[in-house]
Amino acid sequence: MTTPRSTTSMRTHLCGDLRPEHIGQTVEVCGWVGRRREHGEHLAFVDLRDHSGVVQCVVDNDVDVRSEYVLRITGVVRERPEGTVNDQLPTGEVEIGECKVEILRKADPPPFPIDARADDVDENLRLQYRYLDIRRERMQENLRIRSTVNTAIRQSMVEQGFVEIETPMLVPSTPEGAREFLVPSRKEPGSFYALPQSPQLFKQLLMVAGVDRYFQIARCLRDEDLRADRQYEFMQLDLEMSFVSQDDVMAAVDESVLAAAEAVTGERPPSIERMTWHDAMNRFGIDKPDLRFGMELVELTEVFGATEFKAFAGAEAIKGIKVDGGAEEYGRNQLDKLTDRAKSLGAKGLVWLKATDDGFDSPVAKFLSDGEVAAVKAAMDVATGDLVLIVADEWMATCEVLGTLRNDLGRPPVHQGPYRYLWIVDFPLFVGVDPETGQPKPGHHPFTSPHPDDLDMIDSDPLSMRSLAYDLVLNGWELGSGSIRIHEPELQRRVFGWLGISEEEAERKFGFFLNPFDYGAPPHGGFAYGLDRLVAILAGEENIREVIAFPKTQSGADPMTNSPIEGDERIVAELGLRILPRVD
Ligand code: ASP
Repeated sequence: MTTPRSTTSMRTHLCGDLRPEHIGQTVEVCGWVGRRREHGEHLAFVDLRDHSGVVQCVVDNDVDVRSEYVLRITGVVRERPEGTVNDQLPTGEVEIGECKVEILRKADPPPFPIDARADDVDENLRLQYRYLDIRRERMQENLRIRSTVNTAIRQSMVEQGFVEIETPMLVPSTPEGAREFLVPSRKEPGSFYALPQSPQLFKQLLMVAGVDRYFQIARCLRDEDLRADRQYEFMQLDLEMSFVSQDDVMAAVDESVLAAAEAVTGERPPSIERMTWHDAMNRFGIDKPDLRFGMELVELTEVFGATEFKAFAGAEAIKGIKVDGGAEEYGRNQLDKLTDRAKSLGAKGLVWLKATDDGFDSPVAKFLSDGEVAAVKAAMDVATGDLVLIVADEWMATCEVLGTLRNDLGRPPVHQGPYRYLWIVDFPLFVGVDPETGQPKPGHHPFTSPHPDDLDMIDSDPLSMRSLAYDLVLNGWELGSGSIRIHEPELQRRVFGWLGISEEEAERKFGFFLNPFDYGAPPHGGFAYGLDRLVAILAGEENIREVIAFPKTQSGADPMTNSPIEGDERIVAELGLRILPRVD
């Protein structure tokens, strides 16, 4: 990537910019001492580093400069002597000689080397000294990719007629399903604001307010367990549009995502393909399929339609995946582990078959008829030496277990392979039934519009009802989701009814949000996608922490600021709170 070029009153060039074309010029550069190596009796090599890169400077040996000292060096760019050119370094053909060194600030020895990629430096240490960690090339690059993505998205949204509007950080609770952070009110002890899980309610109200197209690069906060793709605080491109269909929203999102990808990679990805939720589950066993690799789930229910094998007989869905050439690679021990994994995911069991020239080698081979063996081989295009894994269960369980195994066994690392963007459409309106209340559980938030063609299915087959909700997926990561919203009070009342939310409860919880709709809500819909995730994938990072300047650790702590810290007693009391003893 290119870095902005900047001359200031203290420097004429950036360290990383010097090339043979500068030979003979007197230059001034500023930066940190990377490495220092003695060079003969009188001289030393100093690698001077700024955000753009490193340049070698030849200084007098008696100049006392050490790692991470901040220097300003004035000198003459010259060709490196024969045999000392470093072709790993963009500035490797030149060096700065005749150096006058000015120490701008001395530095303590850093707790870890700044020049290395630091993969082996303990992450807690990196986060404790994040300001040093960010000096490293990799973090500089990641943060710059992030800035490029932000700029491209903002530009794309403005070009598409969206208006950037900020929404509040102190909000009432919103019904999006995640646990919220609460902020106690000093003026009204005992009352709390929530920090926004997303600007959902406000962006919809902006549609009632006639804004037509809103966007915000919004900070969202969710008090959930942290993972590789999850932080308490994260950034989303949040948008909402009026008088639109699902296709209009998806087109606007496409434009911004593809513009961001192009800004980083230099290449505009092809238009984004679509898949229904049902197809995604059926073929990949997950609602965020990683299309960078095959290993699709193969339908075998009919193959075993008349089977005598008890574990398969009568199962609602039987499917298999194939690991090409996996028979030798997976020994008994690993297969036992895979079976345990399948069981821990909810499967009753896992059948493995190793393909031989004339059949399958497997503990269950004797229960399979010749016809079944041949049919499995044909359906899955099995060759000798392949490993086949089969699950027989309810449709959802079969899909989910095999989908997880497929990812476990086949998924390439984040930095590998092409970018495969994918829209998942036609999500189910409900995701099962709450066993305690008997009410269906919403798949998205309760303001999501049911699919208009499915409204009559509420009594006959509610779990097959679709919604107008859609997700954007990139290489197996869910980038974001959105929906067409309900804008008619009658339909909203019906949906609340289906979800077991009484009129009083709806009024109490969402009255402030829904009553404004009576003043004329336009049909509208929107979307939000996670910038941290998009940037991580574009930067080839497995963890979003690598693309966030100051993230929290897995346990939610910030080792640099030592937060969270105990509340000051006086302030806690002023907020009308009392802290109970910890129960660990
Ligand atoms: N607010 C939703 C989310 O953050 C996105 C949307 O429906 O627009 O996932």
